[in-house]
Amino acid sequence: MGSFDPTLRINEKRLWDTLMQSAEIGRTPAGGLQRLSLSDEDRKMRDLFVRWCEEVGCTVAMDRVGNILARFPGRENLPPVAIGSHLDTTMTGGRFDGILGVLGGLEILRTLHNRHITPRRPIDLVDWTNEEGVRFPSYMSGSLVFAGLRPVEWLHSLTDEKGNTFSDALRGIGYAGDLPPNSRTFDAYFELHIEQGPLLYEANIPVGVVIGGAFVRGVTAIFRGQNAHSGGTPMDRRKNALVAAAKFIVSVNDLGLEFAPIGRTTSNWIKVIPNKGGTIPEYSEVMVDMRHQNSDQTDRMYNQALALIVRCAKEAGVEWQIGEEWKFGENIRFDPECIASIRNFAKRLGIPTMDIYSQAGHDAYSISCVAPAAMIFCPCVDGISHNEAEKIIQEQTWPAVNVLLHAVLARADR
Ligand SMILES: [Zn+2]
Repeated sequence: MGSFDPTLRINEKRLWDTLMQSAEIGRTPAGGLQRLSLSDEDRKMRDLFVRWCEEVGCTVAMDRVGNILARFPGRENLPPVAIGSHLDTTMTGGRFDGILGVLGGLEILRTLHNRHITPRRPIDLVDWTNEEGVRFPSYMSGSLVFAGLRPVEWLHSLTDEKGNTFSDALRGIGYAGDLPPNSRTFDAYFELHIEQGPLLYEANIPVGVVIGGAFVRGVTAIFRGQNAHSGGTPMDRRKNALVAAAKFIVSVNDLGLEFAPIGRTTSNWIKVIPNKGGTIPEYSEVMVDMRHQNSDQTDRMYNQALALIVRCAKEAGVEWQIGEEWKFGENIRFDPECIASIRNFAKRLGIPTMDIYSQAGHDAYSISCVAPAAMIFCPCVDGISHNEAEKIIQEQTWPAVNVLLHAVLARADR
């Protein structure tokens, strides 16, 4: 068992420079990132990431959905300790969401490599495919398949807006590997991520110990009315599907206010047909999600949202239907021992921490179903993410990476 060396620290400048190199691949004019999964930018970033991993002695493998697993060798052939997150972004994403977790992991491997430290267990550094679910519409899908929660074929057959399948796009960028799901058993999994909320930043606390996450349920409401002329149709004879959608959007927001501050509801997408001037819309679809850290409360919000669909349709005189329904985070249970180790090393390094619930979904949710897992959050300015203006303050970020370094090393020496 290795002993705690408080002088062991990451190289801050090297990590910052690496993050800034990543920030050039898919850079937007406003200084954010657009690096959609399996795009040409994603390929360039993956190529660079693989090269960086090989430079520190890693053996790199890919699984069937393009998750990259880079193995830093250990002294013994034992199940590895894994570090992971994602290198893809949203359409107008920031430079750190997901990316800090992967490149922070790389910095840990570089630190060990430079100090000639070989842990007892190997360390697997992972870039999960399609976490953001923007181009191929399903969040966290690479880790979901890895954990065996969805089949490979399901992800392979998802299509983007142009009709390209995931599997063609994956082969197109050269990252279709042959490892099957569950091919590796992790001894433990650690994920570092920006908070994506304002709590740590406002409290000026550099490390968030994630003790749980929100249970999220989503649904698409479909409203069917009748196409008619905007001028010729009397007000009392209309079946305007957009009016039902509008009522639903406002009602769902009011529902979130009732469950605040912990509960959250969001209407995030709408489709209207024909969506033309002079015509009463015949069809609308609204996507909403409900979040609460107490799953019973999420269920309550969800059932109330279903009742709102019916009520809003009735008020607008249109037909309704429930479209796609989804949920995630129901069974996340971060590992008490991994959590304790994060707290312990923060304390030994003199770093203040705050216990925190995750409000967003993360790859760690799925991995927590197949391995002991934990997450560390660091602050992001004003809690802003999924936005080109996403920022981190360097001095508020490095403590979390150092805590991750010690927690991972101690676990790998076990
Ligand atoms: Zn993320």
